[in-house]
Amino acid sequence: MKILTILGARPQFIKAATVSRAIAANQNITEVIVHTGQHFDANMSDVFFEQLDIPKPNHSLGIANLNHGAMTGRMLEAIELIVEIERPDWVLVYGDTNSTLAGALAAAKLHVPVAHVEAGLRSHNLAMPEEINRVLVDRISSVLFCPTETAVENLHVEGFPFTESKRKAQKILNVGDVMYDATLYYREKVRENILLTEWGLDEKGYVLCTLHRAENTDNPLRLESIFDALREINRDLPVVLPLHPRTKNLLERLGAMRWLDGLRLLSPVPYLEMQRLEMDAKVILTDSGGMQKEAYFHQVPCVTLRDETEWVETVTMGWNQIVGSNREKILSAFHRPQTHVNQTLQPYGAGDAALRITDYLWNNR
Ligand code: UDP
Repeated sequence: MKILTILGARPQFIKAATVSRAIAANQNITEVIVHTGQHFDANMSDVFFEQLDIPKPNHSLGIANLNHGAMTGRMLEAIELIVEIERPDWVLVYGDTNSTLAGALAAAKLHVPVAHVEAGLRSHNLAMPEEINRVLVDRISSVLFCPTETAVENLHVEGFPFTESKRKAQKILNVGDVMYDATLYYREKVRENILLTEWGLDEKGYVLCTLHRAENTDNPLRLESIFDALREINRDLPVVLPLHPRTKNLLERLGAMRWLDGLRLLSPVPYLEMQRLEMDAKVILTDSGGMQKEAYFHQVPCVTLRDETEWVETVTMGWNQIVGSNREKILSAFHRPQTHVNQTLQPYGAGDAALRITDYLWNNR
């Protein structure tokens, strides 16, 4: 059996690493990897392939730095050709990026079944490019691998699973979260090999922040307000900020690099280093999807710099506060003690999501 995996962005490398490992353990499955090139910098791409032992891509498209339409269009054209040449049994897509949409669309039109990992997530905000991608990819996928029960419910509310007369009904499965698999798999390695002294930081003596969502970076007012709050927090505790290239470019273009004054800037860090920074942070402030969950996996309080979240369980369990970009709200959430209301729930599965995904694809080839 052949699986064609479509990747392109940092979070997808992390998600795919666990599934690729499970696929490699089944000698009857060949995985062919397409890297669209959406994220291409060495520290946003190569380092993840090396550190997480992801097989080298069989096809590298080098499509990056374009507007959404041009990027998705070129990917669609290139992936269509690859699907025709490779003739896979499944096309496997992850998450919600333009690479996910292009891969799913190319495959579905060639009648190759699409498997969507992280299906059913919703922010209920169609202003987000990611939300548009998710909704469309879910609709044309054959199997929807949901990370949580909330994701399954989201799909049911929208009328999923759909049945077409000439196709099998869609299958919806809650397999758990592949990023939880990754956290469990690498946790000990991180503890043993990565030391906080690498950055001259003390345990629980700093705050970790990441910022890259378009809703923040494309809105100078939001961005300025967030950085005002970060500089204020930085008076109490160092704010460590591995700066996403997109955010850096936008700040440079705005002539607003002074907003970063005093913050502990880092280049994007590799996955294992990032887990160490997360584990020992006092608080994580972020607009990243993955980091909200990882904060919970590492039992670190999170303040989310967005107006909504797809990972609602982190909020209901008391580990995550959704505050948007308002300076006062950020500061008050940062200073407000957390109340962890439910420590016993395990909403992200049992750490075997990758295995369950691979087994399903193999048994339904
Ligand atoms: N991450 C990383 N290095 C960094 C920033 C993030 O390894 O400098 C990891 C982080 O631990 C998480 C993933 O990247 O596993 C989240 O990706 P990102 O925030 O880019 O995307 P999102 O999750 O918002 O889609």
